[in-house]
Amino acid sequence: MKRTAFILAILILISGVVAGCAKSEEKVVNIYTDRHYDTDQALYDKFTEESGIKVNVVKAGSDELLERLANEGEDTEADVLITSDVGRLYRAKEKELVQSFNSDLINEQVPKHLRDNENNWVALTVRARVITYALDRVDPSMLSTYEALTEPKWAGKVLVRSSSNIYNQSLLASFIALNGEEAAAEWAKGLVANMARTPEGNDRDQMKAVVAGEGDVAIVNTYYVGKLLNSSDEYEVEVGKKIGVYFPNQETTGTHINISGGALTKHGKNSESAIKLLEFLTGEEAQDDYANANYEYPVNPKVEPSDLLKSFGDFDIQEIDLSLLGEYNDEAVKIFNKVGWQ
Ligand code: FE
Repeated sequence: MKRTAFILAILILISGVVAGCAKSEEKVVNIYTDRHYDTDQALYDKFTEESGIKVNVVKAGSDELLERLANEGEDTEADVLITSDVGRLYRAKEKELVQSFNSDLINEQVPKHLRDNENNWVALTVRARVITYALDRVDPSMLSTYEALTEPKWAGKVLVRSSSNIYNQSLLASFIALNGEEAAAEWAKGLVANMARTPEGNDRDQMKAVVAGEGDVAIVNTYYVGKLLNSSDEYEVEVGKKIGVYFPNQETTGTHINISGGALTKHGKNSESAIKLLEFLTGEEAQDDYANANYEYPVNPKVEPSDLLKSFGDFDIQEIDLSLLGEYNDEAVKIFNKVGWQ
């Protein structure tokens, strides 16, 4: 009797150790990401601390990551793809580099319009593409819509980055979705006519050019205003202070938003951990960190935007299926080429 109990105990011990080993082998998630923010790494560390799941990160440009996923195929190590701009998530889905997943928790934490309709991706953060203006020269009552920036009064005063940037491609794609191709082309043409200079630099550079007097208004993503104001570079802080934020199209189609999002790679080996990570990143704690550290809007409605974002005010968003930004991307690029938006 004693002997049987002893053998039984040994067996239980062995099976426990075996199960433990198998489990610890599983406890990893590999991320491919094009996001380059310190916040993200801090969040992954927190996730590891809470879940015991180790996180490995590969950072590269989004085109490179998609190409890498395609080349690696079934052999890929990547479990999660995180990228900014829904246009890129759409591309990943089109190329069958990601797979659909289901999580009741994510469905609860993230509203439907911020999730792919076939569950191929979920938004992690929201950013608005707004009009910023020189506080000393522009009265916000002069502003109204993206469309109004093509009026003669803004001739030579509009700053915006190159059309090769996906933020602008998605913006134009939203106009195609809302107003049709012809109206979108008309807008792009009118904006080129009003540009203060041939597009150069990133969003922050457009605001610097406004403050330097090269133009009066700049189209940028909201979080870059936060980055200026909180920069370690004194000049950038000065620029941030001289810039006002205006949410266009509040009486019409709403302000254009875009997202950063996450997806499960098609051939990932650690799907369970991958879903846990996305659940964590859309949870209240992580959402609060994203909002405060990177000046992005939370996707989780239970989390409030940071004080800085709140100071910009509330706004109505464009109510379109975000996938359309990906769907009309090619069309948008064609229009940009046609109207000479460099
Ligand atoms: Fe950005």
